[in-house]
Amino acid sequence: MLSDIVLEVGNLSKRYNDLHAVHKVSFDVKRQEIFGILGPNGAGKTTTLEMIETLRSIDSGRVILDGIDVSKEPQKVKRLIGVQLQSSSFFDKLTLTELLLLFGELYSRQVDPIKLLQEVELKEKASSYVAELSGGQKQRFSIAAALVNDPVLLFLDEPTTGLDPQARRHLWGVIKRIRSEGKTIVLTTHYMEEAEELCDRVAIMDRGTIIANAPPQQLINTLVSNGFKKDRVERLANLEDVFLNLTGHSLREE
Ligand code: ATP
Repeated sequence: MLSDIVLEVGNLSKRYNDLHAVHKVSFDVKRQEIFGILGPNGAGKTTTLEMIETLRSIDSGRVILDGIDVSKEPQKVKRLIGVQLQSSSFFDKLTLTELLLLFGELYSRQVDPIKLLQEVELKEKASSYVAELSGGQKQRFSIAAALVNDPVLLFLDEPTTGLDPQARRHLWGVIKRIRSEGKTIVLTTHYMEEAEELCDRVAIMDRGTIIANAPPQQLINTLVSNGFKKDRVERLANLEDVFLNLTGHSLREE
């Protein structure tokens, strides 16, 4: 039977000389959960993800991914995960379809490029080159590329950074649908609204350690019950509301 826990991280640590970039970090991720890692620049989020993804060596601690120890069987783990690459790392002489077929060959997998492009709503761009895509489309394509090996666990590092409000919301819909089709997702973000909208649970990292780990609403309730009050009453609308009201909620990328 499939375990309810897909990822177990225990006392994971990484040092760069005197800097404890990641220090005794522990958390787990449940199957089909969207789990967010939040934290200021330099908190250790990317280092944590890259150790889990087998891209960086682990100093101490352990990572078990779908029952497999990442330190002992990194090759097996690579087959279970999808990692979103930055679109700049794609070859520019191949179309989206050709790129997905190439990635499929690298994984020795038969892929259906159109089905993958449909998943991220890019079917009509099947014959385009990455350079011809908008920022939001590039981000969606990089998610399609990360889905080539039908991973159990998908890692998204700041998936919506640099996108306009419509494109960001559109990508949220894509991420939610991928989860609803059975994937587990771990993402990092600097957008708190995004974490609240997408994540079942968030871990907040600071200076290499996890200082909170709970569902977003629970963290908010705890803060409020501890007597937290905003300095001023929340405005009824903000500039993002004005922007979306004027330009519409629908995606315009053509
Ligand atoms: P950001 O939000 O800016 O992406 P982050 O939370 O992902 O930040 P990391 O990139 O994991 O943070 O970096 C954690 C700390 O480790 C930082 O202080 C960074 O300078 C340091 N660091 C990261 N990689 C190296 C390296 N290869 N050599 C030395 N120090 C490093």
